[in-house]
Amino acid sequence: MIQMQDVWKTYPNGVMAVNGISIYIKKGEFVYVVGPSGAGKSTFIKMMFREEKPTRGEISIDGKNLSKIKERHIPYLRRNMGVVFQDFKLLPSLTVFENVSFAMEVIEESKANIKKRVMEVLDVVRLKNKARFLPHELSGGEQQRVAIARAIVNNPSVLIADEPTGNLDPETSWEIMRILEEINDRGTTIIMATHNRDIVDSMRKRVIAIENGRISRDEARGMYGYES
Ligand code: ADP
Ligand code: ADP
Repeated sequence: MIQMQDVWKTYPNGVMAVNGISIYIKKGEFVYVVGPSGAGKSTFIKMMFREEKPTRGEISIDGKNLSKIKERHIPYLRRNMGVVFQDFKLLPSLTVFENVSFAMEVIEESKANIKKRVMEVLDVVRLKNKARFLPHELSGGEQQRVAIARAIVNNPSVLIADEPTGNLDPETSWEIMRILEEINDRGTTIIMATHNRDIVDSMRKRVIAIENGRISRDEARGMYGYES
């Protein structure tokens, strides 16, 4: 359901970040993307949600060729792909409830249905009791859980996470992983770039390792596998 065929990315400054990557990720998979800093992990991930365009090669999501999607249709693509970042990217002046409802596709939705759906996803991330809080009133782990709620509110088929535990302590990181696992168990494909060796080595999911913009390893039940 996510396919890349001989994908390359050279940035305008000449940096060759991705150099001929082909992958196939099935619906419902949980995939870790590992590799040293600067290896091309973020670029690889950004191309999946059209934050960056490949210089050449083809990417398709659920059978749709990304390069053929018109600029004005990208918001629709994004709604089918939740994205979570290391630095949460919440809107600071909105409450938890509003941060999540703001992302919701609200065309013709009644207020009651919006509220129901937002409270449902806040329940998944165990934050129903903090719906009225502002981001700065929450811990880092709670803020990341809001970001996850926001990412899944439209029921995306894919959840992409770029170092979601990068700013969190180990215990909080595990809380986040349990939530991501639950979301994956409900059928959402998860692609997660990470430097967290403990998590990768305990979960034993598919591991795609990237080095110098190429896939150096792709294992079904892989390990982190680097020295640092
Ligand atoms: P990783 O996520 O593995 O750290 P990145 O995909 O962020 O790797 O970066 C891969 C390479 O591309 C690095 O050399 C980085 O400096 C470069 N790079 C990343 N983003 C840009 C950009 N917007 N413009 C130019 N070079 C970039
Ligand atoms: P429950 O259904 O579990 O009783 P509520 O519907 O009472 O939950 O809402 C839980 C929390 O979310 C409460 O703090 C409530 O005030 C808050 N909340 C509900 N709707 C909104 C909204 N539109 N904006 C901000 N906070 C909201």
